[in-house]
Order: sequence, then C-alpha cells, then structure tokens
Amino acid sequence: MSKTLINNLTEEQLLSTLNAMGLPAFRAKQIKSWLYKCVSFKEMSNLPKGLIERLEKNFTIDNVEVYKKLTSDVDGTKKYLLKLYDDEIIEAVAMEYKHGMTICVSTQVGCAMGCVFCASAVGGLRRNLSAHEMLAQVIAINQDTGVKASNVVLMGAGEPLANYDQVIEFMKLLHKEDGLNIGYRSISLSTCGLTEGIYKLADEDMPVNLCISLHYVDDSKRTGIMPIASKYKVVDIITASQHYFKTTGRRITIEYALIKGKNDSEEDIDELIKLLKGMNVLVNLIPLNASINGVLNGVSQKKAYAIMDIMKEKGINATVRRTLGSDIDGACGQLRAREIST
Ligand code: SAH
Repeated sequence: MSKTLINNLTEEQLLSTLNAMGLPAFRAKQIKSWLYKCVSFKEMSNLPKGLIERLEKNFTIDNVEVYKKLTSDVDGTKKYLLKLYDDEIIEAVAMEYKHGMTICVSTQVGCAMGCVFCASAVGGLRRNLSAHEMLAQVIAINQDTGVKASNVVLMGAGEPLANYDQVIEFMKLLHKEDGLNIGYRSISLSTCGLTEGIYKLADEDMPVNLCISLHYVDDSKRTGIMPIASKYKVVDIITASQHYFKTTGRRITIEYALIKGKNDSEEDIDELIKLLKGMNVLVNLIPLNASINGVLNGVSQKKAYAIMDIMKEKGINATVRRTLGSDIDGACGQLRAREIST
C-alpha cells in the first residue's frame, strides 16, 4: 500500500483518516500543529512511540534533504542544495544580519521567466514547489544552523506569483502561531512584476513586503534582459505596486541589479529617478553577480554607491545591497545551475 502524504490532508481529512485507525480526535489537531514546524514524525515529541511508528508506516511527510552545503569564508552565509522526494534539487540560503537570520527560499524548481542574467532560468521551469516544500526549506535550515530564522525572503529560484496559491499557503504556514510564528512584516516576496498577482496579493490581508525586480525603466530594454517584460509594462507594474502600498501600508522595494555597461548609464538612472519621484519606495541597488556564462557583469561597489548618492540627492530612498556569499555562487540559482550541468 502506498503511503499518504500527510501534509496534503486537511484537518478534517486527517481527522477521519486517524478515526479510521481508531485514534482519538485530539490527535489530528496535535499532529496538524506539528506539521507547521517539523519535518519528521520522530520530532513529534508529545506523541507516544507506538503512534509515531504507526504514522511512519502509513504516511510520508514533506521534507527536504540537505544534499550540499557551502559556507562563505567572507561572511558566514550558508548556501544549501536541497533534494526533494523526486530527486529534484533546489537552492536556499541562510544569511546572518544584525537583526537575526534571514532565509531565502525557492518557490519553484527552476523558473520560466528566462531573465538572461539569472541562473535560475537555466533549464527552464521543472515544476512548482508545494507550500510544505517551501516550509521544509525553512525548517531544515533552522535545524541545520540551530538558529531560528527571524525573516524569510521569497527570492530564491522561481517566480512566486507564478505559483500563487502554494506561495500564499506557505506564507500562512510560516505565520501560524503554533508553527514558526513569523510575522507577515518579516516576510518579503520578490516578483518580476506579474501585475494580476500583485493585485490579488493586496487583497489577501497579509502585509508582506513586496519587492519588484525592475532592472530597467524602458520597456524595450527591459524586455531585452527579462523576456516577461513584453507582457507586463513598467507603468502597469508601478500602478499595481502603488495599489499594493495603499492597500497594505507596506512600502515597496524596487530591486535594480546594476549591470555594467547596460542599465547603469546616466540616462537609465535618470529615467529611474523620474519614474519613482514622489513615491514612497526604497530602491535596492544590487551590483549584479556576474552571470554564470560570464557575459554580464556587475558594476563596482564604488559605482553602486555613487548611483545611490545621486538618487538620494534627488530625494529617492536608496541603498546598496550588501553582496553576501560572493565566494559561494551567491546569486539566485547559480549553485544549482552548476550542479545540474555537471
Ligand atoms: N522571480 C522573482 C524572485 C527571484 S530572483 C523575481 O524576479 O523577483 C530574486 C532577485 O535576484 C531578483 O531581483 C533577480 O532579478 C535577482 N537576480 C537574479 N540573478 C541575479 C544576479 N546574477 N545578480 C544579482 N541579482 C540577481
């Protein structure tokens, strides 16, 4: 008999399944609550040993297995390759900041968006991740580091708004009080700008931080590095983002990866300033991590800070993102891309 994936059962389904096994109702609630914070039956410490064995016989539980781990000598950033039940490999990262540990999770295996600078696009989209597979990344890394992450960012491989329902469920699981209990304000979701998803998210009553991967203001230049830009115009993405800000009160972050000789010209930065003038946004300037084929390179830190200063002079909030884990293929999908191509 094949085992049932326990995470997929609703509380009612779990209740009737356990009932059929002759177990009392309160066990369903107890087990469901464990599923918000653990990835094996053995960890369910308030269940009798005999019950744990029965559960192991009848059910499987969504988990990820640490397949490879790299620790940066520069800043302690930990990069994980995690194996899923079907042997697919995903990437997740743990970064230490002064305010605590942040975990960056993948939302899909691979990605369909095809951004030319992004290693997650290599090999295209393999499949969506389930909400529990996303949660398992956080739990597995918490367990591996021994530190409970305070923040989660959906900035690993995949486009979160292209896997909308599972991503919403994942953020709800993160938020459960009897689970990891991570506030929505401590969760950030990054999108290349799927506007319909942004409007839906605004209505979810979950005020997560929304980050927009802009990288260019001009639509045709943007399409040159982000094919999806042919479908979503910058002006529409900005309108959707303003709606998100008005509805949730959360300030939008604009991510702008500075690509040497491409989007770092005075003209491009001027357009960015004009576009954002008067808006309550934070611009995160990210010197591009050289693309894995070596064709695109990032600007120097010095240049990034000079651009930041220009933006600030014009009244736009801007920061330069610290490059973490640069010695361990720090950028999105780079470690996985190398692994799957060997
Ligand atoms: N699909 C989502 C989330 C994943 S990517 C999105 O597009 O936002 C997370 C961020 O990393 C995005 O801003 C993406 O553009 C950026 N990124 C991807 N490759 C990068 C690289 N080589 N250097 C710097 N940033 C990169």
